[in-house]
Amino acid sequence: MTYVIVGSCVNDAVCTEVCPVDCIQPAPEAGEFATTEMLYIDPDVCIDCKACADACPINAIYPAEHLPDKWTAYREINAAFFRQRMRS
Ligand code: SF4
Ligand code: SF4
Repeated sequence: MTYVIVGSCVNDAVCTEVCPVDCIQPAPEAGEFATTEMLYIDPDVCIDCKACADACPINAIYPAEHLPDKWTAYREINAAFFRQRMRS
């Protein structure tokens, strides 16, 4: 399983400070952070620890299997960000 960030994310990067495997990107030290619309979780690296979901101040992170209906597209949107990154 993986956790997923949804469209209400406000880019405050609180979650990046608690992720033990640094799979939430772009992190503030990455160049893309200044222009990204939101942050994303790499589903191939996430270890399902839930630390990010507990830390997010606006509840913008859900387990992939429990996404609210209006946010289901974000499972693929998170994964696509990392596929795109590998190509560039
Ligand atoms: S669940 Fe854990 S490993 Fe996965 S993104 Fe959140 S903090 Fe990182
Ligand atoms: S803590 Fe929540 S609002 Fe902040 S960057 Fe992470 S997902 Fe977005």
